[in-house]
Amino acid sequence: MRTISDTVVLKKSEAWLTASGEPLLIAGPCSAESESQVVETAKALSQSGIHYFRLGIWKPRTRPNSFEGMGEIALPWAIKAREETGLRIITEVANARHVELVLKAGLDAVWIGARTTVNPFTIQEIADALKGTNLPVLVKNPVNPDLNLWVGALERLHHAGLTQLAACHRGFSAYMNARFRNLPHWEIPLELKRAFPELPVITDVSHITGAAELIPLVAQKSLDIGFDGLMVEVHPRPAEAMSDPEQQITPQGFLNLLSGLHKPSTQIEDSETLAAIALMREEIDRADRELIQILHTRLKVAGKIGRLKQQSGITFFQQERYDEVLKKVSAYADLMKISPELVRSLFELIHVESIEKQGE
Ligand code: PEP
Ligand code: MN
Repeated sequence: MRTISDTVVLKKSEAWLTASGEPLLIAGPCSAESESQVVETAKALSQSGIHYFRLGIWKPRTRPNSFEGMGEIALPWAIKAREETGLRIITEVANARHVELVLKAGLDAVWIGARTTVNPFTIQEIADALKGTNLPVLVKNPVNPDLNLWVGALERLHHAGLTQLAACHRGFSAYMNARFRNLPHWEIPLELKRAFPELPVITDVSHITGAAELIPLVAQKSLDIGFDGLMVEVHPRPAEAMSDPEQQITPQGFLNLLSGLHKPSTQIEDSETLAAIALMREEIDRADRELIQILHTRLKVAGKIGRLKQQSGITFFQQERYDEVLKKVSAYADLMKISPELVRSLFELIHVESIEKQGE
């Protein structure tokens, strides 16, 4: 059977390596809004150790009538930011025209957004427009959890002679409100890494979380898994940002983020072990969520019984029922090879809470 790594061998490239082997850092505003905002942000980040300054010039927005980026007038602002700080500049391209303008302006790298990676025609058009340049390209995952589509985009670029490639994990769309704006599905970038061990994977923590306060958690997780870098949206005044205000952090917030992150222990060198641990942790997180949901259901039923007892004038606490519950769960714990003491203490707590709920 053909595996996804059969077609293309992706090698590490200088563009996405750091001299020290530390994670590669990309930071900057979601969107370029004005020359002063771009230059101010770049200056504020210039001493933070970032490797690329990001800024969105053309913004793919889900709904029309929202801010769609300043467009090509922002290109000279990016150049000015580079002149003043020495930082390399990366922006998003979503069609061949964008590529043409970026090449003309002389920016240092481009990323392809999640809404573009889903479309092989557009990817092909971008690959053709980049042909002969070997510009560094960062390919975001498609919005839908389809690893082959992500790999296909990398392959199209590679076939066009582009070898300075990296992947960017920005999470996958979810219907209905979830904790994260885009579900991380860590198993997908991990599978990509397994197929192409040399391909750098950078985590876009801003678009995964959609919320500034969740960024440290996801950034640390990305380092723990052993991915190669972080992309973070930084704005001097996040509340005033013309796009994605909730997920942008200040330059000082970015420095705080960096100082709060810790490099995972290097005791486990083997990336397969790291990947296996990461998958198991995903499983544990899922089991924990299920536990909480079950607890929620149990307490809801307790509340209903409470109302019935109240209508019928029965006392909430009944010793025989409590003894019966403890006996049943202890026996079941024994059968499942779980310590009966653990289950007993757990159910004592749950019972107290149930009585509270019945009284409410
Ligand atoms: C962005 O990085 O500004 C962006 C629009 O990202 P994505 O394609 O991940 O939504
Ligand atoms: Mn954004």
